[in-house]
Amino acid sequence: MTEALDDSLNADLAAMAKAGTLKSFRHITGPMDTEVGMAEKAGRILVLSSNNYLGLADHPEVIAAGKAALDKYGAGTASVRFICGTFAIHQEIEQSLARLSRTHAALTYVSCWAANTGLIPAVAGEGDAIVSDALNHASLIDGCRVSKAKRLVYRHSDMDDLRDKLAEVREARRIFIVTDGVFSMEGDLAKLPDIVHLAKRYNASVILDDSHGTGVMGKHGRGTAEHWGVESQIAIITGTLGKALGGAAGGYVAGSEALVKYLSQVSRPQLFSNALPATIAASAKKAIEILEREPERVTRLHELAKTMRHGLKELGFKPLEGDSAIVPIIVGDTAFAIKMSQELLNEGIFITGFGYPVVPEGTARLRIQMCATLTDEQIAFALEKFEVVGKRLGVI
Ligand SMILES: *Cc1c(COP(=O)(O)O)cnc(C)c1O
Repeated sequence: MTEALDDSLNADLAAMAKAGTLKSFRHITGPMDTEVGMAEKAGRILVLSSNNYLGLADHPEVIAAGKAALDKYGAGTASVRFICGTFAIHQEIEQSLARLSRTHAALTYVSCWAANTGLIPAVAGEGDAIVSDALNHASLIDGCRVSKAKRLVYRHSDMDDLRDKLAEVREARRIFIVTDGVFSMEGDLAKLPDIVHLAKRYNASVILDDSHGTGVMGKHGRGTAEHWGVESQIAIITGTLGKALGGAAGGYVAGSEALVKYLSQVSRPQLFSNALPATIAASAKKAIEILEREPERVTRLHELAKTMRHGLKELGFKPLEGDSAIVPIIVGDTAFAIKMSQELLNEGIFITGFGYPVVPEGTARLRIQMCATLTDEQIAFALEKFEVVGKRLGVI
């Protein structure tokens, strides 16, 4: 039986290899930073595809906070939250997250994946309705799929379509608009002022997943809602600790006290899956403190994104426009994106090519992501290599 299954799986893998869409995995030998060592390649390699937006993954204070929590609390909770797995550090990180999100309360999960798939079916059930952006993150999509609510998908950032879909479900008990803050593959922002306006008109609550916006958008890095000046008008914010906020893992839901109280009672990952490890909670709490203390990191991040976008255009690339720290270049098919990524790696730059099924076939891309601690020299080096590889492959 095992053999038959393995034969079948190997056939599927061979088909992916033949199509040139098989992903390869590089083994990084030290902490995530602007440059890393790699088991497969000698020398230092410039990383332009991590979510380490603020450069906090190996910040000495973030590391020290995690170590201290390991000593204080041990390896983990050995329990879900409600049995005996709620530690003092959970209360502390949740207060920090609520403060950062400008909400009354927050609740952690072991990932934002768990947060989204634990949140949506808990608040949206039979008789309710969810209206969701077509380009939402996979975890939001799965969260919606598990829900018993009526589900409608609106065309990406198309406010007319959102309005039509809301009108269709206006009789529902609870109505939710679900959207990413920063769309991860495009780097564009949800049109929150319009979304909030429609939410008011149709009595809907907005669920905003700001995983790529937290620590990145807004003057103080409080996220996409801060960027648009609509912070008090978003009912529910979800996010990750695995990107700008230290980069380890962990996710959260931020919102009202009633919401957090309710989720603590019924959200399935809260009830049936272990609590966030203390080490991660303490590192992320420190990362938030650094963000609040050093908003200049956010300013620098945006300067770098501008410089990169401008430099790429000067070379003849056509990066997608946007205000986030994500600068995608669409290159067409998946195999080509993987090839370009390999060529860049040969030149000392690590950018993963994304293709099907992460993005639709024909829109494969290189997703460049900025990090606040990149130097001007590193950016110049990257642009030099983009030119070399772009010309070699006939992209520019
Ligand atoms: C990365 C990401 C997630 C998943 O976060 P994890 O904490 O790694 O599970 C969820 N939603 C969005 C929009 C993301 O970009």
